[in-house]
Amino acid sequence: MGTNTYSEVWDLDVFFEGGSGSPQFAQHLQETKQLVAEFKALVSNWEPKNEVREDAMDLKAIVDRFEVVTKKVRQAGAFVSCLQAQNTEDSKAALLRGNVTGLNAEFQIVLTELNQKLTTIHDDVWTGIVAQDRLKELSFVLSEGRRSASERLSKGEETLINALSVDGYHGWGQMYDVIVGTMKVNVNEDGTNKALSVGQAANKFSNPDRSVRKNVFAAWETAWADKSTYLAKTLNHLAGFRLNVYKQRDWEEVLKEPLDINRMKKETLDAMWQVIADNKMPLVKFLERKAKLLGLGKLSWYDLDAPLGQAESKISYQEGAKFILEHFSKFGDEMTTFAKKAFEERWIEAEDRDGKSPGGFHTYFPEDSQSRIFMTYSGTPSNVSTLAHELGHGFHTYAMRDLHTLNRHYAMNVAETASTFAEMIVADASVKNASSEEEKLALLEDKIQRSVALLMNIHSRFLFETRFYEERKGGTVSVERLNELMTEAQKEAYGGALEEYHPLFWASKLHFYITGVPFYNFPYTFGYLFSLGIYAKALEEGRGYEERYIALLKDTASMTVEDLALKHLNVDLTKPDFWQRAVQLCIDDVEEFLRLTEGK
Ligand SMILES: [Zn+2]
Repeated sequence: MGTNTYSEVWDLDVFFEGGSGSPQFAQHLQETKQLVAEFKALVSNWEPKNEVREDAMDLKAIVDRFEVVTKKVRQAGAFVSCLQAQNTEDSKAALLRGNVTGLNAEFQIVLTELNQKLTTIHDDVWTGIVAQDRLKELSFVLSEGRRSASERLSKGEETLINALSVDGYHGWGQMYDVIVGTMKVNVNEDGTNKALSVGQAANKFSNPDRSVRKNVFAAWETAWADKSTYLAKTLNHLAGFRLNVYKQRDWEEVLKEPLDINRMKKETLDAMWQVIADNKMPLVKFLERKAKLLGLGKLSWYDLDAPLGQAESKISYQEGAKFILEHFSKFGDEMTTFAKKAFEERWIEAEDRDGKSPGGFHTYFPEDSQSRIFMTYSGTPSNVSTLAHELGHGFHTYAMRDLHTLNRHYAMNVAETASTFAEMIVADASVKNASSEEEKLALLEDKIQRSVALLMNIHSRFLFETRFYEERKGGTVSVERLNELMTEAQKEAYGGALEEYHPLFWASKLHFYITGVPFYNFPYTFGYLFSLGIYAKALEEGRGYEERYIALLKDTASMTVEDLALKHLNVDLTKPDFWQRAVQLCIDDVEEFLRLTEGK
């Protein structure tokens, strides 16, 4: 490896010169607007003739145009996201965001109309159409859109539902933000009373001082209890709206929509949770050990994020990059070459400076086939993981670079496959290379905490949400009952490992109020374990696995997860075996942690 010094500031000028004031970008937006309007006309004017040859020809023309327009819209969205993230004060970028959102919404309406038109084609004609050249490879996605439209109500009824959702369904979702935005958590710190925002209070749960955590938690529960009447009303109406729409569409299962979105079967979901439920014991033992290390009999909710105390070593950006490249190269050449290119060609914005937005993300500029990664690198081991994580997302889009746009929309449950995979490579290497036992423990704990979050916390959310929706079918669910359902779900999901639980978690967790995506929980756990399962396979197979890994990534957006796993991993996701192997990796970490802390 050379002595490269990688830039910590990305290059956006290569796309559009001049940032949010770019005339070139203004031109791009203008063109995109024009293209969306033309695409809209193309779709509106199309009347399927129920004739294989002719309809196939028209549909080919439509998907070709779709490809061009999508790239334009995505390119614009990616650029604006980067502008907003690199400088939160960029008011011109905020205005551009409005334009892009509007274009996107218009584009989505056209797609809905397209799917509705597909439903007017008879089944036998349809089979003929999607068997044609160039449509064959898109048949899964096209048929999925057609089926999904056919399972809905008439165009007029769905339009009415969408219109009413703005002030109904989504309105309740926004109501949650309004209530939470005005909330204060009142704590007494060193004799003075402080009114903390919800976010500020949440940060205190990782404070090393237990009395601080305990104090904040008491104030936290009081604050949520004060608002619980409003929040229960909000949750009940939001859920009621959703259930009512499902009822009108004759959808009996509340899980139908989230399962369809994630292209998976109920049997798969059940198999996954069953394996998790059967393997709580190692994680319970971890929590017991953590309690012991903190000098406690049992952990409480507010101890879960408590640090075990460690002096973190700093890693410079250059060292971090080198570490990632070194360990990627043990897995395969393509991933290494990709990451190297990202570092060298300034695809990454990592500089630690003021005015950047928090967090990290990856985005893709389809017209240039280039990725951009955003984060703030301050030299912690978790920064290195984040960097590897986002590079993993980049590699996923790279693996799909030659596919038609329609075959690139992967669902949430597989979206984190490549990112988690890349992160695992680096996290495992970090644990192995730790410079002291203390550091090794801290890194291991970090990994295990993630398993606790995904196999316990998210599990409790899923248990609560399914049970709540069932009860809601019979009428409004009271605050007391919500608290009860939540506590039961937590006790079950944490294997009874905690002393005190968080009954008002249904109020404090935003995810229950997100209307854009229903059941915003199990896809996280699925994605994590799915990726671990693939990682386990890669460990078995060694360096030669990369080619097959890329083939798997390529197919992530054009088949069901069951077919994907069968084709590329030769496993049946509806059976426990695959999940058991994935969970075993989490258990291995716990066992090592228990060994290292024996007698401490
Ligand atoms: Zn991610």
